[in-house]
Amino acid sequence: MKQIKVNVYPETESPKLFKNKFLELLTKTHPVVIDGMYVVFSYFSISHFYNTYHPSVWLVVGLFLAGFFSWSLAEYLMHRFLYHKIEDATYDTGFQYIFHGIHHEYPNDKTRLVLPVIPSLLIASIFFGIFYLAMGKFAFAFSPGFVVGYCAYMTVHYTIHKVPSPKRFNFWWRFHSIHHYQQHDRAFGVTSPIWDMVFGTMPEKNRKTVNISYKKRHSEPNG
Ligand SMILES: [Zn+2]
Ligand SMILES: [Zn+2]
Ligand SMILES: [Zn+2]
Repeated sequence: MKQIKVNVYPETESPKLFKNKFLELLTKTHPVVIDGMYVVFSYFSISHFYNTYHPSVWLVVGLFLAGFFSWSLAEYLMHRFLYHKIEDATYDTGFQYIFHGIHHEYPNDKTRLVLPVIPSLLIASIFFGIFYLAMGKFAFAFSPGFVVGYCAYMTVHYTIHKVPSPKRFNFWWRFHSIHHYQQHDRAFGVTSPIWDMVFGTMPEKNRKTVNISYKKRHSEPNG
């Protein structure tokens, strides 16, 4: 079985992305900031939809849930096809490294677990634009479900890396650690294994496709 080599720095903070202190500060975000931002957005978006178009409550709830579950599919597809290379689930040194590879190398650096405010808002605007073009006014109730789904994913992922597994939730911790430490090309879902089941990427027993070297220190690229 083909294995890929990965360096993992379990106890080290990742290197700085910017020399400038202010820009570097902008790359570090706590999940509560992002959760709060999108809950506020969702409130105003749903209020706007409700007050302007007077839909039934069930339509609002239905659109919200559709958005929420669409996120779960997006979470899987982005992790599988954007963050990792399609052929062998490695990552390149550019976009994929900044967005995801850095997290595989520094899995316990909590400052790299949350996509910061500015790129998060940019990407959210693109999604909103797509939803608005596709479904018009319904996007005002669908998008809140989608971003709340995103917040759930991001918060679950942060928690998995931040705190030891509570017994009841062991499944989530184990499933994600298989993706990190055994099979990079399996277990792409973080909040649920549903899409891994649908698309045939459930982990297999006694299969190892990553060959990890644990490193203690690393050399700073900027000296
Ligand atoms: Zn360093
Ligand atoms: Zn990954
Ligand atoms: Zn992770």
